[in-house]
Amino acid sequence: MFVSVEEARTLLSALLPERETEHVPLALAYGRTLAADLIAKVSHPSATESALDGIACRGADTLLASRDTPVRLRLVGESRAGQAFAGEVGAGEAVRIYTGAPLPDGADAICPVEQLQDAGDDIVLLRPALSSDVRHEGGDFRAGETVLRAGVRLTPSRVALAAALGHAEVPTLRPLKVAVMSTGDEVVEPGQPLTAGQVYNSNAYGLLGMLQEAGCQAALLPAAPDSPEALELALTSIGGADVLLTSGGVSMGKYDFVRDLLIEGGQVSFWKVRMRPGGPAMLGGWRGLPVFGLPGNPVSSLVVFHVIVRPALTGQPLSTLRLRAGTPFRGLADKTAFWRAEVRGAEVFDYAKQGSGVLRSLSEAGALVVMPEGSSAEVGDEVDVVLMG
Ligand code: AMP
Ligand code: MG
Repeated sequence: MFVSVEEARTLLSALLPERETEHVPLALAYGRTLAADLIAKVSHPSATESALDGIACRGADTLLASRDTPVRLRLVGESRAGQAFAGEVGAGEAVRIYTGAPLPDGADAICPVEQLQDAGDDIVLLRPALSSDVRHEGGDFRAGETVLRAGVRLTPSRVALAAALGHAEVPTLRPLKVAVMSTGDEVVEPGQPLTAGQVYNSNAYGLLGMLQEAGCQAALLPAAPDSPEALELALTSIGGADVLLTSGGVSMGKYDFVRDLLIEGGQVSFWKVRMRPGGPAMLGGWRGLPVFGLPGNPVSSLVVFHVIVRPALTGQPLSTLRLRAGTPFRGLADKTAFWRAEVRGAEVFDYAKQGSGVLRSLSEAGALVVMPEGSSAEVGDEVDVVLMG
């Protein structure tokens, strides 16, 4: 039941529930997924306006303006944001104007304040006024236009856009409720004393952060010991979650009871993914609850979450960029490799310690180079890079 990274994502997506639409105020919308297309209720700009502080005039009057041959226009009024100039700008005339203020009738160009000299009732231009400094009504978007599509993630810039479109609240998908449970007799909560052979529970906290970043509602459960009875009880008492993420207990060891429990008493959708790190990952179900078993190795659990679980939970594809290899990267014959790597400028460099237990590596390297099965890259070749931050 070895699956590819893509198959693993698809199988997890298939187990996730359909989600209802929740209308939320903009202040709570960040990180959610838009549930329906959003149209512009208004045009932006709502009127043709100035992009600069300066004067508005007829551009044709100023074509020859320069420092040596300044052009003098007569000031006939002012246009401020929210308070337009009522009249019309005629030949040889100018109106003081400020950023975002409506362009008066008759005017078609702007000269910025830095290129002006005051001269009593007149104003002197040291260069031509430009029509490119006019922002046209609806130049950004027009009322009725579909500007944001269902399914996009509401990043800060999209929340700002939704506000500019005139929406006080937005339709979003209900966030997935994800429970996180570490397993392992050796796993100890940070803050407790640690004896030789034990390890602090770092996976749960990395996963919590990643879930929050992915717009999920995450709940941390107490870590479970390596005992089939205790694990079974812990799994059976989980209520209200859409999916459970476990860490540890899915490898080949005698005490890997998450694996045994799903095989013997639950369902298995896959066990093992053709990837490194993260090969032992498992997907199954327990009494109707989808369970994604992440490997215990700290690097494996976070990499598997990022490249398989996150795209399935968010509906967003894994985002990659193409960069030039600064060191060679090898591929593996029958697995996708995700090598930890450091991005410097437009190049990406192999990180020295690739062991899946080297926790500091993810934090220090910050990126993964994706090497498809059977591929290889020499210095200067382009490779796919995942930024993991
Ligand atoms: P396992 O997958 O249970 O065989 O665990 C593999 C390795 O990951 C072992 O060295 C464990 O001690 C370590 N490990 C398991 N769970 C965690 C956790 N929650 N936080 C940090 N390390 C862990
Ligand atoms: Mg274990």
